[in-house]
Amino acid sequence: MIRAQLRLSDHWEVVSKEVETYLPEHDDDHPDAPDRASDDPESWKTEILGKVMINIRMKRGRFYRCPHCGCWCRAHEYVDREYDHIPDMGYDVKLFVNLPKLHCTNCGRYPQVRFPLARPKVSYTKEFEKSVLRLLCKNTVSATAEMMHTGPWIVSDILDYRIRHAIPEQDLSHVTVLFVDETQRRKGHEYMTVFSDNNHEVIFIAEGKGVGAMERFCDYLRIQGGDPDNIWVVSADMSSTYESGVERYFRNATLVWDRFHLVQAINNTLNDIRKRCLKRRKGERLRNVKYTVLKRPENMSEYDNEKLSNIRLNNPELALAYDMKEEFCEVLECADMYEAQEAFEEWYAWVRIQGCQEMRERADRFKLKIDRILAWFDHRVNNGVAEGINSKIQKTKDAAYGYPNLDHFASMCMFRFGNLVIAF
Ligand SMILES: [Zn+2]
Repeated sequence: MIRAQLRLSDHWEVVSKEVETYLPEHDDDHPDAPDRASDDPESWKTEILGKVMINIRMKRGRFYRCPHCGCWCRAHEYVDREYDHIPDMGYDVKLFVNLPKLHCTNCGRYPQVRFPLARPKVSYTKEFEKSVLRLLCKNTVSATAEMMHTGPWIVSDILDYRIRHAIPEQDLSHVTVLFVDETQRRKGHEYMTVFSDNNHEVIFIAEGKGVGAMERFCDYLRIQGGDPDNIWVVSADMSSTYESGVERYFRNATLVWDRFHLVQAINNTLNDIRKRCLKRRKGERLRNVKYTVLKRPENMSEYDNEKLSNIRLNNPELALAYDMKEEFCEVLECADMYEAQEAFEEWYAWVRIQGCQEMRERADRFKLKIDRILAWFDHRVNNGVAEGINSKIQKTKDAAYGYPNLDHFASMCMFRFGNLVIAF
């Protein structure tokens, strides 16, 4: 029965099954017992009620095939191995397996019979691995580890192993459009650059940023069957390092400043203006408006609208900057390049005459590289989705709590948003 559940062939037999129930950790009737009602309702998930131990062995008295020369040979000795299996109803399940070690008289070697339910050299079964991967789709490493009653290092080992083994199968021959985005793993930590393809799936994560990261991607692309010369659009942020990177590594590509980054840049400018106003006016009626001014009108709540009217009354300078940001966002929503160019020139003239210094500087920088902005209308690179990836990665980063090693963060991004084929 258990053998069938585990899907073991009839070479194997289940010798015994023992269940050990742990004594409850808290005695609820004890006067000092903690108030269980106020406990986290999810806590039952992680509570370990006991363990189930299943002893398995290979049927005795058999001849086995030597994996090296194919001759029939006998068991020389037996070794015990212990494997973690999927926890069942709060019980840890452990498989104790007695494995024969053979002695082949033909080739003189001592091969060990493999346990078919687990990969060699690990202490958990393949089903256990699959459960871990299923849980990782929605949970952090530490939460997954807790649910599986195991250590976070085991979870991240499984993740890394699967990623490492999926990479040789990754085919990048289809890549013609490239989205490049850099992100910091955590505040103060070094940068990593995320590369996504035409389908907005993450295809590579490079350490560092700028030209170096592009070079690493270029090498990787060639290994995975892609060709840097096939890439005709690279969408990236406004840092000047990408310009030389694209020129050097993607000779046939046009660099496009994507909408997401343009909006981010002008929002940063607006935020600088807000901070300056806040300082000067000692904060009266300007506190807590940061997220209000950064919002688009369609995303504003009634409360935000009220705040905005307040800003208009009390701080015309910030209100004007807000209007200029909105007008710029509308330039990006034009139907075609000509319309956009006209709208941009109008916006630029307005900012030059009435804008404050920060806004004028931002506009000058845009004006200098207007081709990169207008190129978007030519190539119609859909940034809505790229933005989606960026915010998803941001969320993965927020959930990074519990990653035993920050390097696993890259594995996690590849696992969740990458185009690797990982079956589980
Ligand atoms: Zn042999």
